Amino acid sequence: STDINALADEYLRLSYHGLRAKDKSFNADFKTDFDENLPTINVVPQDLGRVLLNLINNAFYAVQQKKLSDIDAADSATGAYKPMVSVSTRKKAKWIEIRVKDNGTGIPETVKEKIFQPFFTTKPTGEGTGLGLSLAYDIITKGHGGTLNVQSTDGEGTTFIIQLPYDKK
Ligand code: ADP
Ligand code: MG
Repeated sequence: STDINALADEYLRLSYHGLRAKDKSFNADFKTDFDENLPTINVVPQDLGRVLLNLINNAFYAVQQKKLSDIDAADSATGAYKPMVSVSTRKKAKWIEIRVKDNGTGIPETVKEKIFQPFFTTKPTGEGTGLGLSLAYDIITKGHGGTLNVQSTDGEGTTFIIQLPYDKK
């Protein structure tokens, strides 16, 4: 069985330090809010890790994009815009909920319909394959009997919500 909190924490740090190593201008705050009584579940750690890493990388990308965008450059310079990525876990009645939240660019409605399609990306060539979310969707739904949903407001930010069933004892 897998300690989801430890896994999420590890991948959050991995993602952050990986992005900083590639791009010295990259900077964002991140935080965790973990349910300490999270049931352990049988997931393949590498699979869930891959899902988390993609959601977290996307989140950091979105806050970086917002920081660099013209509209927010001024706010960013004055410190009014504070890039933030957070990961939380909660035990629900029948499932574990993992949320990956950012206050980045958000996703326009017309784009939102397509994000789970393989090869769909809005990123420049070389920066995205467009496979991350379609793979994440398959791993969570087909691989683990869970759900993957998104809530997003264009210009405000995005939250991806993973729900994974657990066996009540
Ligand atoms: P990639 O990251 O290679 O583009 P993904 O499948 O991970 O592929 O994501 C597909 C698209 O969904 C992204 O190109 C982007 O347009 C959008 N997207 C995903 N996550 C976010 C996010 N947190 N904020 C804004 N847009 C996002
Ligand atoms: Mg991605």
